[in-house]
Order: sequence, then structure tokens, then C-alpha cells
Amino acid sequence: MSNRTFTMLKPDAVSNNYIGPILAKINEAGFRIVAMKYTRLSQEQAGNFYAVHKERPFYKDLVSYMSSGPIVAAILEKNNAVEDFRTLIGATDPSKAAPGTIRNLFAKSIEANAVHGSDSDENASIEGGFFFSQLERF
Ligand code: UDP
Ligand code: MG
Repeated sequence: MSNRTFTMLKPDAVSNNYIGPILAKINEAGFRIVAMKYTRLSQEQAGNFYAVHKERPFYKDLVSYMSSGPIVAAILEKNNAVEDFRTLIGATDPSKAAPGTIRNLFAKSIEANAVHGSDSDENASIEGGFFFSQLERF
């Protein structure tokens, strides 16, 4: 079991000034930030990041949305990080996300749903590597 996961605060979270409130929730839930970057994805980078979804009907819109503005990428550390972070963010569709979860509190739509959270230890490692080198991790 890994103790790290990967997250992005998506363009809606950044443009709505939710970086601070979302990072506060993440810290309050016991996650330590071990790498963090404010950046913007090109269409090509967003397409590569979400390549696993390329046959899905929402892929094209998702890629344009994820490259539409700045994001915050971070690696987080906690026991049982992947599963506990998925619980903290709530369901993909914010209208189905449990009360008090990050998506329930800060997301407006299934696409612009405030945060990404890795779905497995393997993907956490791949996704963290997409944004950070070993030397950038603390
Ligand atoms: N998404 C979307 N429409 C859908 C399902 C997903 O726009 O019907 C977007 C949404 O931003 C989601 C991302 O695609 O976070 C990746 O989808 P996934 O099923 O992996 O959801 P997640 O793991 O982010 O909860
Ligand atoms: Mg996913």
C-alpha cells in the first residue's frame, strides 16, 4: 500500500479562488504536501494526461476544459493516501458527492469538478511523474 497520491486543482477551482479553501481541507484531512506546482496544461499535455479516457464521449471537451486555464498540481502523502483522498473529494458528479466532500463544496458540474484524485497507487505514481521529477519531491 502506497502512502502517496496525486491531485490537480482544476481550472474552475483556480478561477473561482478556491485554491486556499481546498488546500485547507486537504491539510485538515491529514495530507502533507510533498510537491506542488501552479501551471497550465497545453491541449497536448491534457490529452496525454487523460489518454486513458480517449475513447469516452467526454474526452474532447475534457481536454479543452483542462487546458483552458491554470491548475495546481500536487503530490500528497498520508497513510492509505489514494483511497482516503478519493473519499475526501467525493463522487465525480458533484450532485452525487457526499456532503462536506471537496466536490460537494466547491464543484459546479461533472466536468468542472474542482479536483482530480488518482484512482490507484500505480496511477498516482504515473501522474505524479507527469508533473514532477524525484528532485522536486519533499
Ligand atoms: N468527466 C466528464 N464527464 C463524465 C465523466 C467524467 O466531463 O461523464 C470528466 C471529469 O472532469 C472527471 C474526469 O473526466 O473528473 C475524469 O473522469 P473519471 O471517470 O476518471 O472521474 P474521476 O476519477 O475524476 O472522479
Ligand atoms: Mg479518474
